[in-house]
Amino acid sequence: MGEIIDGKKIASQLFEDLKIKVQKSIDKPGLAVVLANDNPSSKIYVASKEKKSLELGYRSYVYRFDKSITMGKLIELIHELNENKKVNGILVQLPLYEHLDEQKIIELINPKKDVDGFHPINVGKLYCGLEPWAKCCTPKGIIKLLKGYNIQIEGKHAVVVGRSNIVGKPLAALLLKENATVTIAHSKTKNLKALTKTADILISAVGRPNIITADMVKKGAVVIDVGITKQYDRFLKGDVDFDKVKSIASYITPVPGGVGPMTIACLMENTYELFLEQNK
Ligand code: NDP
Repeated sequence: MGEIIDGKKIASQLFEDLKIKVQKSIDKPGLAVVLANDNPSSKIYVASKEKKSLELGYRSYVYRFDKSITMGKLIELIHELNENKKVNGILVQLPLYEHLDEQKIIELINPKKDVDGFHPINVGKLYCGLEPWAKCCTPKGIIKLLKGYNIQIEGKHAVVVGRSNIVGKPLAALLLKENATVTIAHSKTKNLKALTKTADILISAVGRPNIITADMVKKGAVVIDVGITKQYDRFLKGDVDFDKVKSIASYITPVPGGVGPMTIACLMENTYELFLEQNK
């Protein structure tokens, strides 16, 4: 039976640590979050980022817009936030309303305030093996989970299922930096099962419940489930058939309570690190 990786526990240690550091600090980190879509999940994510910022003693600035927001107004806001000394991190909750150009907005954020690590300069630094101003939160959280459980990454074969810019690709870069041998799979990959069976560390970031079944997992593999699918408008399901896979894996993350809490914890850590950097 695999050990269950407790993301909540590791995240709450990180929150405690940040709270103490902020209490000791004269000035406070500031996080600005921009919500320009009416997606119910995005609204929940933004509210929880606001709540956590306040709990940790950060300055929290949230900008919520209805559909009448124009590209011009959003660009103006990003310029203002880039200039505002009290704002250390800027997060634009994706997706944006369809009439807004996501990539253009991401590229307008000052890379030194790009708390999500999505700016091409930060992505480029990551792929050059350099330290970005901020690392993408979910991949950074996954590395922290592996290290938190003393799971060896170096020399292991890591298979990442999913190649999005926010999870799969940056995660592959971070695993490579940790000296794993990395394979990235996606929707056009042939014979996914043959590939996942060779993984020492298997990470799924697809968003389809039960895409990873027990017969796709090597005995003793470490299984990290990033996927989140809402079922019956209430229950969250991961990508992995957790009940069956947990008896094959050596370690496994649950959904919820695995990767999810680490994403917000790393967002808060990134904000704090940008604050330190900007106040050097
Ligand atoms: P995307 O939809 O952007 O990417 C999904 C990826 O899965 C794509 O690369 C796609 O391939 C691949 N894929 C789709 N179908 C298959 C298949 N049958 N076999 C193999 N690969 C497939 O999603 P995100 O990366 O944004 O998110 C992935 C999941 O992780 C979602 O459930 C999301 O909610 C969750 N998530 C969870 C977070 C957390 O904190 N726990 C944070 C961020 C995301 P292709 O590129 O070819 O289309």
